[in-house]
Amino acid sequence: MIQDETSAADILMGDVVRLEDVLSRDSVTSVSKSFFSLFGLPVRVISHEGDLLADVHRDQPLCNYLNTLVDGAQQCAATVSTVRDIEPRGEAIVHPCFTGAAYRIVPLVYQGRPIGRFIVGPYVPAEANGPPASLTSVDGAVDPNTARGHYDRMPRVREEIADQLCNHLKGVIELLVFSGHRAQLASTMQVASVRENYRELAEKNEALKQSYEELKQLDKLKSTFLATVSHELRTPLTSIIGYTEMLESGAAGALNGGQTEFLQTIRGKADELLGLISSLLDLGRLEAKTLELDHEAVDARALLSAIGSTIVPAANRRNVTLDIEVAEGTPKIWGDAVRLRQILLNLADNAVKFTDAGGTVTLSAMAGELQTGGPAGLGTALFATTRPAVVLTVQDNGIGIDEGKLARIFDAFYQVDGGTTRAHGGAGLGLSIVKQLVDGHEGKIEVTSTLGQGTLFTVTLPATDDDA
Ligand code: ADP
Repeated sequence: MIQDETSAADILMGDVVRLEDVLSRDSVTSVSKSFFSLFGLPVRVISHEGDLLADVHRDQPLCNYLNTLVDGAQQCAATVSTVRDIEPRGEAIVHPCFTGAAYRIVPLVYQGRPIGRFIVGPYVPAEANGPPASLTSVDGAVDPNTARGHYDRMPRVREEIADQLCNHLKGVIELLVFSGHRAQLASTMQVASVRENYRELAEKNEALKQSYEELKQLDKLKSTFLATVSHELRTPLTSIIGYTEMLESGAAGALNGGQTEFLQTIRGKADELLGLISSLLDLGRLEAKTLELDHEAVDARALLSAIGSTIVPAANRRNVTLDIEVAEGTPKIWGDAVRLRQILLNLADNAVKFTDAGGTVTLSAMAGELQTGGPAGLGTALFATTRPAVVLTVQDNGIGIDEGKLARIFDAFYQVDGGTTRAHGGAGLGLSIVKQLVDGHEGKIEVTSTLGQGTLFTVTLPATDDDA
């Protein structure tokens, strides 16, 4: 008798509600149990697909008795099977049993579609005047007194009340279906959106990974290119410088004033070019991590004095005062003397370059501390230890650097005033090399600056263990 009322359109919409999908057996059983314990009426809930979702009943003595008889049992089975297969459309159906009892079959509907039914019964309608003749005639072996006794003990309810109770139960179950369906929709949508987000993320991640690999490849190519070109340029340039020096020294004959001047210019420019090429080579080696540092104890005072005497001609030319301050008790630096000189020279050279006439550049050194070790993240403060260090500063009261650009000044080839109208020389490599050299020494470099007021670079480097 069951007919599938689900239309093709509904299936296409993917919005078919199945009772068993939106209603847990536990919740429908618990509602049926309350109904049974309150009114003593057995309940069975069956889905549109024919699955028994809840079955709450107590065996009736009358049914047990009839089931001991051949014809009685057969008739009982036929009634039960008929009741189970009835699927009412719209209204509830009351199906009489040959015993005089009745079953109510009530349709369950959701969004205008049949989704199942429940059966209440067997019960005896209270309006009945005793059992019908069919109770005793069903089987020749029926004992009328026994049957009557059992009949009298069947649950009794007036049809009007039974109708109201069933409507009530129908309302409760349909409400459960409604909220179950809403929860199901919400969770399906959530799962779908999480899945979609995850898919999008995975795609983006893949694209990012690809571009990262490509960039890495390009970066490697760039480094190899720089290293090769710099190397190839350096050899002929060294010859140019060598021959210029020979000419200057008169190795090819005496020179007049104009010739000497031209040769000096050639040598000056060639030296500049060699400096640039050396920087490029250093950068390549630093990026490839092939530059080896030769550690030794380096005296801070001697280091700053050497920088001072190198830089003083340029400072004088620009009318910039140079100060050197080394605090008492400054320990020796544990580092590569040549590379430490390169660090300080770059910083001091910039300081002079970016300070106007009348300004001051101060180089200083003092004892300090450097944080080492400890895992990155939350535990850093807990596990970190400190070691003695030397703090070197290069301070100027020159043009300063815009705050928004400070973070980029350690990038290779970056210049704050990077336009073609740039007033200062350089290629934007110095600070990038400085940063990598400081990192190579396991030190740190910090910068603070105020536009129009000046800049302070602070380099903290490990001190030797034994002296102060
Ligand atoms: P450059 O060869 O251009 O000096 P650097 O890497 O040494 O390259 O410096 C990068 C940029 O940082 C410089 O072009 C300049 O704009 C800025 N800069 C560095 N030091 C100073 C300073 N002491 N005062 C102002 N600007 C500075």
